[in-house]
Amino acid sequence: MHRRSLMRTLAAGTAAGGAAVAGSTFPKPALGQERFEWRMVTTWPKNFPGLGTGAELLAQIIDEMSEGRLSITVYGAGELVPAFESMDAVQSGTVEMGHGAPYYWKGKVTASQFLAAVPFGMTAQEQNAWFQYAGGQELADKVYAEMGTKFFPSGNTGTQMGGWFNVEMNTLDDYRGLKMRIPGLGGEVVKAAGGTVVNLPGGEIPPALQQGSIDATEWVGPYNDLAFGLYKSARYYYYPGWHEPGTTLENFINLDAWNRLPADLQAIVAYANRAVNQTVLSEFVARNNDALNTLVNEHGVELRPFSDDILQGLGGLAGEVMNDLASNDPLSREVMDSILGFRRTAQAWSAVSEEAFSHARGLDFQFATPSRG
Ligand code: CA
Repeated sequence: MHRRSLMRTLAAGTAAGGAAVAGSTFPKPALGQERFEWRMVTTWPKNFPGLGTGAELLAQIIDEMSEGRLSITVYGAGELVPAFESMDAVQSGTVEMGHGAPYYWKGKVTASQFLAAVPFGMTAQEQNAWFQYAGGQELADKVYAEMGTKFFPSGNTGTQMGGWFNVEMNTLDDYRGLKMRIPGLGGEVVKAAGGTVVNLPGGEIPPALQQGSIDATEWVGPYNDLAFGLYKSARYYYYPGWHEPGTTLENFINLDAWNRLPADLQAIVAYANRAVNQTVLSEFVARNNDALNTLVNEHGVELRPFSDDILQGLGGLAGEVMNDLASNDPLSREVMDSILGFRRTAQAWSAVSEEAFSHARGLDFQFATPSRG
């Protein structure tokens, strides 16, 4: 009997026989049994909370779902290649897969930085909605094809913090002459405000801040910033992260390697990324506030909001910077137009949903409290 008709017969028998087959030694189909051993380089320190562990989780889920048919060894930044050579390693096929953040590749393809985060742009869930329902995935694939890779969203940090400073930031002018580590479009905005911008991978931030080769930095948020001990070298911790309201992390795959995968393994990689994307965001939401309390209460960090004046100034500059980029680069224009169109929709819905609810929850009323704390 032909193998496919055999399977159909067996499947029909299963349906007719009900649960009797469950738990039996039902033969597994021998389709697509080719095994793949891949390597994944990352821009993160090995097992760094949320980011490096997210990459490890991706490899683990893919291994489990494929029963080892696609097995991926994960390397931290610097283990195989330096953090910022990860894309080169994947593009050239030296390794099959990478994990990082899209704005790290803005020097290769300008439009990539729009996929990570847009200053004053979209929240994590809005970014995900754009990727899944508003053409974002297709545009991201177009951007990454320029680098010979396939793209998946693979984690989201949620709203980040504004950064660590040793001087008070009272007016927009305080950015003038400030040497700050800040990637992506946010970095372009700080540059437009008169700052000097440095792009460093995470692992190089703590020594740079400690040695004073930068005056200020942003990294992610309390959970990650505590892990790096950034409070040891900076006094003021500003919020919100206007520059990264919901940063999308990435899984990028060498296009030839991707095209060699059978369809079922491609589906596993796609849905494993979907799972990791949500899991990483949940981890940040769960961990950030405890970490913030530790920073403030145990390490004496001074928590400061950016003034509305500074935020309005930065917002205006962000618009100018993005318009300039888009007018010089058609692909950036295409991505930016799509994002800004969706942002308008998302903002309108948010006004009567999450923003309205946040206001309602914050009103002054007597409420039930947990029995401890
Ligand atoms: Ca950041």
